[in-house]
Amino acid sequence: MKEYSFNNSVLRIILGDITKEKVDAIVNAANSRLLGGGGVDGAIHRAGGPEIMAECDKIRAVKGGCPTGEAVITTAGALQAKYVIHTVGPVWNGGKRKEPELLASCYFNSLRIADERNCRSISFPSISTGAYRFPTDKAAYIALTTIAAGIEKSSLVEVRFILFSRKDFDLYSKTLDKITDSQGNN
Ligand code: ADP
Repeated sequence: MKEYSFNNSVLRIILGDITKEKVDAIVNAANSRLLGGGGVDGAIHRAGGPEIMAECDKIRAVKGGCPTGEAVITTAGALQAKYVIHTVGPVWNGGKRKEPELLASCYFNSLRIADERNCRSISFPSISTGAYRFPTDKAAYIALTTIAAGIEKSSLVEVRFILFSRKDFDLYSKTLDKITDSQGNN
């Protein structure tokens, strides 16, 4: 595990499985129809059971789904978290179709929704870097800088990045070092 402390909060980078997290909210890398799928989305619905999809069905009935860059919240069903925040990352298309801005919006909006529910802890996966093919080095920089900019203005005292592979864990760790070194307060 790797961590960086702010005045009243901490950012942690962890190698693990997000479905096992005991936090107020876990974030799902969903698709815009909120229909479940492969990767982390499938893992969360499998482990959390049908209650999560039942709430996604209701959201879909009212709003049609969730646009890219935005987020919605549901129960976490059988998981140990209280909530699942479903956010829809951009599909990587070379980087000139607002993919970086949309990915930053995913992190910003997830943090905002967690703050609205007064969450104190939240766990994120590496949004968009699986099936959606966003380059992980770029995604890690956007994820960590967006969270670092927002964490202290929110109710969150702990933000956790749960990386599913050693390679992603190393990349997020290295990126956190670069960001905090460049701020001169490592
Ligand atoms: P996207 O469609 O947004 O790219 P994916 O689910 O395909 O989402 O991949 C996002 C990341 O989530 C990938 O790095 C993948 O390895 C990771 N992942 C898959 N399962 C889990 C899990 N159980 N916990 C944490 N991360 C996971």
